[in-house]
Amino acid sequence: MTAQRIDGRKIAAQLRQSIAQEVTKLPSKPGLAVILVGDDPASQIYVAKKIKTTEEVGMVSIEKRLAADASEEDVAATIQTLNNDKSVHGILLQLPLPKHLNSDKLIQMINPAKDVDGLTYHNIARLVTGEDGLVPCTPQGSLKLIQSVKKDLTGLHAVVIGRSLLFGKPMAQLLLQENCTVTTAHSKTKDLKSICQQADILVAAVGRPAMVKGDWIKSGAIIIDVGINRLNDNSICGDVDFEAAKETALAITPVPGGVGPMTIACLLANTLKAYKNSL
Ligand code: NAP
Repeated sequence: MTAQRIDGRKIAAQLRQSIAQEVTKLPSKPGLAVILVGDDPASQIYVAKKIKTTEEVGMVSIEKRLAADASEEDVAATIQTLNNDKSVHGILLQLPLPKHLNSDKLIQMINPAKDVDGLTYHNIARLVTGEDGLVPCTPQGSLKLIQSVKKDLTGLHAVVIGRSLLFGKPMAQLLLQENCTVTTAHSKTKDLKSICQQADILVAAVGRPAMVKGDWIKSGAIIIDVGINRLNDNSICGDVDFEAAKETALAITPVPGGVGPMTIACLLANTLKAYKNSL
């Protein structure tokens, strides 16, 4: 069996198109503000891409750039200004921040109604309690990719490798809400291979190239590869051995072109949601 390749680029494009259509019917334009502190090259590329995509769907993009040596007070003041600005519906603090800044403290200053990354305690609590809120973008996008293959996930065993606050934990919560039986694995998990072999849905978010081998995959499983690993030849690969896994899986996301494009599309979906909530 050769697995279906889950085309994240296509699914993300469809989502962006439906967002763009909805935006044309709104009384005003949703505004997404991105705060970039310092000059990390990867962050600059991400932010440029976010701004371009935001404008392509007809939203207003606001960029706030602060110097690498900006103080915590400077960043806090920027967040406060955006919190109070009625034309701003979403605020994103681009991570990682320079080491002298306390990311968590600053994230918690974002108005939860504008927290389009879903990282404030308010939105985390809403996710855990199953109430409607702003859900972190990459897990949200990953769930959409899983459901592009199978809508009803009830009773399936989902294994999430990784327990970060940014991805692993919210992903596990979303799968639990879909009535999966969820196992969260991490660096201290024993016999990861046999746990993965039981997974109807396997989500890998570790950051180790091709760590998940072909014989870890259950026949007919849905595989979501979140990992982004840059190899010596400058190419990018995921956490799953794609070529081997596709022989056993039902469906699998490629890297690149799988989860990655969904993240920005879901950021725009969150901005639209925050806008509608503000009406
Ligand atoms: P992270 O905070 O570094 O978390 C990595 C997780 O992997 C941790 O929970 C860690 O366990 C676990 N882990 C490490 N070694 C392991 C091992 N040998 N066996 C099992 N688990 C192991 O990373 P993250 O932010 O969640 O991101 C994970 C990957 O996803 C990265 O490659 C990142 O670039 C990628 N990512 C992609 C997108 C996207 O848009 N496509 C978005 C976010 C992240 P412990 O908790 O025990 O340390």
